Amino acid sequence: MQSGVFCFRNDLRLHDNEALSLALRECDQLYLVYSFEDRLWKPKKNRRISIHRARFILEALKCLGEKIKKLGNELHFVYGDISESIPRFMEEVGADICFISEENAYEEKKAEDALSGCVPLQKGHGRTLIHQHDLPFQLNDLPETFSKFRKLVEKDLQISRCLEEPVNLNTSKSLNTALPSLREMGFNRFNINHKGYYSFRGGFEAGQKRAQNWIWESHNLFKYKITRNQLKGADFSSRFSPWLSLGCLSSREIFWEVKKYESKYSANESTYWLIFELLWRDFFQFLARAHGPKIFHRRGLHPERPLTVEPADAESLFSSWKMGTTLDPFINANMNELRLTGWMSNRGRQNVASYLINNLGLDWRKGAQWFEEQLIDYDPCSNYGNWLYLAGYGNDPRTNRCFNVTKQAELYDPTGSYQKDWL
Ligand code: FAD
Repeated sequence: MQSGVFCFRNDLRLHDNEALSLALRECDQLYLVYSFEDRLWKPKKNRRISIHRARFILEALKCLGEKIKKLGNELHFVYGDISESIPRFMEEVGADICFISEENAYEEKKAEDALSGCVPLQKGHGRTLIHQHDLPFQLNDLPETFSKFRKLVEKDLQISRCLEEPVNLNTSKSLNTALPSLREMGFNRFNINHKGYYSFRGGFEAGQKRAQNWIWESHNLFKYKITRNQLKGADFSSRFSPWLSLGCLSSREIFWEVKKYESKYSANESTYWLIFELLWRDFFQFLARAHGPKIFHRRGLHPERPLTVEPADAESLFSSWKMGTTLDPFINANMNELRLTGWMSNRGRQNVASYLINNLGLDWRKGAQWFEEQLIDYDPCSNYGNWLYLAGYGNDPRTNRCFNVTKQAELYDPTGSYQKDWL
């Protein structure tokens, strides 16, 4: 037995946490740590976290810290990139080894590699529904399209059971356990001035409550396939994404809740469709893992495809897109919802992305970067994967997915009431 550190990142939960279970088995004394990484909280160039996501993360940490305390341990906070803050912390407490949940995106993997160069590091899996070892192909042979991927994995879908929440967290002495405030992290709380149709709250407790309510109490799951393309309201889609992105919920636990629901009531197209969407999420995670930095390059996975030149007034067009002042009211409404709440429907995201790429003729990475900052549910794999796909440089045989935004507005907001809410 040894003394170890568990470093939380985008896995802010105690249940179904493989790396944490491993750490608890191997250490008789375990320090639980979260590092506020400079690359995210103090970037050299553009801001990377909006106030909406910052608030959500701090709430999730508060919820996690309180639960840890109930189980006899403490959540410690350190500052700086993990390859510096974690070794420093380990030295201070005399820990021998560090445990961490593996991520799939390039920058996060680079941070893991840097950390493993400094201290003994053991990793656990937990970011995807399907464990990488259960894929019916090697990662190098990841199918180019989602439908090929889905057909292959669905042939014999292997989803392991969720891991239980630990009952004891192997006490350590406490050091810095003070959670910083939004203000201390450089945000002004009064910037939050709009709640939107649904108020997200960070933390695994709020995530599980949402799942309980959306799946079991209001049976929204049962009609999801019909409602999922809507724009207005709190329940047309699950809204699980922020909790999944920050790891307050695991996609495995959602999968097994859906299976439980199907066996109690019945399976239908809607119950299947939620799992279908979780497979999209997995596909983008594996895509990012397989292609590393390429998903952030302008021509992504297709350097052979042509590039369009941005117009001379690109900067002002981009600014009008961000601020919801373009010539198109449907786009403006969606962009306002995003800026004011940190969330936008999937239908909205597809339309505003298509508009930036096809109508404004801008570099898709500008839009992806703005989403990265604004979205509460930001996840590098899902965000850059979806943008690449729409820009024609990703996993799509088609090179152009252009939406007619006027027709889309007529179809999905026929009375204009969504636009009225946000303009
Ligand atoms: P639901 O419709 O209820 O779906 C359930 C879950 O399936 C979601 O929570 C999500 O985890 C997953 N999912 C659904 N659609 C997708 C998809 N297209 N790609 C990947 N996973 C999916 N999702 C993120 O989580 N983070 C992002 O940063 C992100 N950026 C996006 C950028 C663009 C340009 C587009 C078009 C989509 C993006 N998405 C992203 C995917 C999708 O829009 C959101 O996951 C979804 O709208 C979240 O709402 P929900 O939880 O109610 O989804």
